Parts: sequence; structure tokens; C-alpha cells
Amino acid sequence: MKPVIALVGRPNVGKSTLFNRLTKSRDAIVADFAGLTRDRHYGDGRLGDRAFIVIDTGGFEPDAGSGIVQEMARQARQAVAEADAVVFVVDVRAGLSAQDHDIARFLRGSGKRVHLAANKAEGMAGSAHLAEFHELGIGEPHAVSSAHGQGIRSLLEAVLEPFGPDDEPAEPADDAPIRLAVAGRPNVGKSTLINTWLGEERLVAFDLPGTTRDAITVPFERHGQRFELIDTAGLRRKGRVFEAIEKFSVVKTLQAIADAHVVLLLLDATQGVTEQDAHIAGYVLESGRAVVVAVNKWDAVDAYQKELLARSIEQRLAFLKFAPLLHISAVRRQGLGPVWKAIAEAHASANRKMPTPVLTRLLQEAVAHQAPKRSGNFRPKLRYAHQGGMNPPVVVVHGNSLEHVTEVYKRYLEGRIRSHFKLTGTPLRIEMRSGR
Ligand code: GDP
Ligand code: GDP
Repeated sequence: MKPVIALVGRPNVGKSTLFNRLTKSRDAIVADFAGLTRDRHYGDGRLGDRAFIVIDTGGFEPDAGSGIVQEMARQARQAVAEADAVVFVVDVRAGLSAQDHDIARFLRGSGKRVHLAANKAEGMAGSAHLAEFHELGIGEPHAVSSAHGQGIRSLLEAVLEPFGPDDEPAEPADDAPIRLAVAGRPNVGKSTLINTWLGEERLVAFDLPGTTRDAITVPFERHGQRFELIDTAGLRRKGRVFEAIEKFSVVKTLQAIADAHVVLLLLDATQGVTEQDAHIAGYVLESGRAVVVAVNKWDAVDAYQKELLARSIEQRLAFLKFAPLLHISAVRRQGLGPVWKAIAEAHASANRKMPTPVLTRLLQEAVAHQAPKRSGNFRPKLRYAHQGGMNPPVVVVHGNSLEHVTEVYKRYLEGRIRSHFKLTGTPLRIEMRSGR
């Protein structure tokens, strides 16, 4: 599980600047669940082989009086509760304030590992200004400049030190369970679906451990295929039924997606595709996971709503075109068989082996059928291709002047590779590698 780092501090100390800096790696994804968590932003960051999630909070004023300020403080407290580590940001130029003391007192009582980032420290090396922050009782301040990118790496190293390298889901053995995450915003029907599944006789669920921070997975079997359902909803077993304790947790959702082989993205037919659905879908795409989209509550919509829904999916989820789209009713147990089939196919697609000779032949046929366009003096020459990775599958094309291959042409190649290897439900990445 990716560790979660919360950034807290009073307004204007540079939290957002630090957030942008931390999530600025090539892999950065900013999942901004607007509306749901007004003042919290979630982003992905990476330091070497360690991936982490960062939460940016609004301003944090522990004794906030009312209204918006109070709401911001509530958001910050929530972020601290969700986090594995806290970076407390202070402003060296402004110096220590009473508010900083209040926040420090709150953080010391939180039981979380807290690191002090003394921001805006560019050009202030060895200055006495840093020393006063020892008073906060948080430990040695890390002098950083978020704006100029100074001291960030050593701060991160300290923060991430207790967490090991992340274990990317390993290449699964043939009989290894398929790790499945059911993702979707609140009320789309995740708990209902999971209970429907686990209530089926053929499906053997085992008992659950019950810790809060650890990922909870429910192992089960269906038609001889083993699955592991990764909890996204804070599920607890209550008798024969699973109950969601928290209604929705962004962190759990992001972690489950990162940890899954296949994500089942659930939509609510009665609501259409909302902004939040699109954010979650975008995150799934960026994570490179195999994905199946299921529109739930199909029993509750009329023909007109179905048409609207089809249009909103086309518009807002166009980037998930590769994912199979199914229509189900969790309460009526309708359409569930095809979901399992799609999940298994998506998983198999994500792990398909594509031998070099076959890829190279496909490439040559594609070029013979339609050659890439000349760009200025350059005509890209595609020579051969090999598989650069699985889950998601990556095809590396070798040749010359490949930087001139257009996106349109890449999509053309992608289409031909997909159809040959029958890839559905998985992203396919194509990388161009020019030789000399
Ligand atoms: P937040 O309210 O804590 O999220 O603070 P912001 O990230 O919005 O930053 C507040 C102000 O401080 C902005 O004007 C930033 O440009 C500035 N700032 C942020 N980091 C640095 C820094 O490292 N050095 C300096 N000099 N200014 C900074
Ligand atoms: P979650 O927040 O995603 O776990 O959603 P829940 O499983 O708690 O479901 C939210 C609401 O949608 C509940 O009132 C369910 O009874 C209802 N619901 C779930 N699945 C269906 C369905 O297939 N059809 C209809 N009509 N309602 C459903």
C-alpha cells in the first residue's frame, strides 16, 4: 500500500506549492475530488522506487471559529487521520506564530509521525531563523524551498524512510488470484454488488481481519478462478453481510486501484456520468490498470435515461473506450455473469504475451498497409517491435526518426495490435525508441 503523506500548516506557508512540487514527477496524477472533499487535494508522487500519495489541505487553524475556516480545519484533521505521515509546513520568512504552536500541539497529540518543513528557506542557509522552530517540539526542521525545489529530496527521504519500496503487483502466476477493486463514488452500489456476489452460493468468502489501516481483501472463488476483492469502502463483516463503515474514502479508493490487477468501475445509471466518476476513471487510466465499466441500477432507468447515459459515457469517458461496458442491476442480480467474463478477459489481456516475431510482423504489415507520414526531411522508419512490459502491456517500437511518428499513427498501430491479440479492458502503451 502506498504511504499517505498529509501536508498541513497555516494558510500561505506554501503547502500548495509543495504539493505541486511533490506530485510533479512524470507519473504525477492529481485526483481532485471536487465537491466531495472541498479543500483536500490528492496527488501521486514518487521518489525512486517508492510511490506515495500526498494530501494537500486548505489552511489549518485548530481553533477556527466558524464557517469556512472551521470547515478547512475539519478537512485538515481528516487528512491527518487518513495519513501515515504528516509534513507540517511553516514559513521561515514569516517566523514562528501562535497558530504554528496550536497546530504543533494538535499534531503532537495525533499519534502520527510528523516532519517539520521550514519553507521559503532559499538563500537563508545557516540562518538563525531556523533555530526558533525547535520550540515547536516536532524535531529538527528541514529547510526547504518549495518554490525553488531545494531540500525537497532530503525531506522526502526522511518522510519515506520507514516505508519500504512499493510492491507493484507482481506478474501473476497462472493460478494466482485476480486482485479486483470495485471503484466508484458514493452510492453507486458498491456494497450492494459486493454483498450480492458474496451471497452467491458458488462463491466462497473467507473471514476478514479487522484492522483499519491495513488493506482488507476478501478472497473468494468463482468457477475455479480465485479472486481477491480489495476493499474500497471500509467493509466489515456483520453476520453474513458486509457493511460499509465509512461511506467513502478517497485514499482507500486510490490505494485499492494501485493495488489491483483489474478495476471494476461502477457507475450509477440514474445519475449519468458525474465529474467525480470522470476523476476516478481518469485515475484508473493513469494507473495503467485493466478496467471494466459497469453501469449499475439498470433496472431503475427508462429508455430516455438510457439514451442520455450512453451519450454522457461517450462524452466524459471517451478515454476509456478500450474498456468493456456492461449494464447490471446489483439488487436484481441481473447482468452479473458477463461482468465476471469481462474481468477475466481484461486480466488475461493485461498479461498477454506478445512475442517479438509476431509484433514485428504486425508492425511490418501495418506499415505496408499505411506508412507513417513524412515530417519535413524525416520519414520515420519502423523496424521491429518487442514487448516492454505487462499489466499494462507496453509495445516498444524500434527504428529511426520515430519522434516524428504522429499520435494518430500510434493509435492506428494500437488498433492493429489490439485486434490481433484480442486485447480488451487493458490500456496498451506504445513507446517509440529511435536507434542511431
Ligand atoms: P498555502 O496557502 O500554504 O497552500 O501556500 P501557497 O503554496 O499558496 O503559497 C503561498 C505563497 O508563498 C505564494 O505566493 C507562493 O508563491 C509563496 N511560496 C511558496 N513556496 C515558497 C518558497 O519556497 N519560497 C518563497 N520565497 N515563496 C514561496
Ligand atoms: P455504495 O456507496 O457504492 O456502496 O452504494 P450502496 O451499495 O450503499 O447503494 C446505494 C443505494 O443504491 C442503496 O440504496 C441501494 O439499495 C441502491 N442500489 C444499489 N444497487 C442498485 C440497483 O442495482 N438498482 C437499484 N434500483 N438500486 C440499487
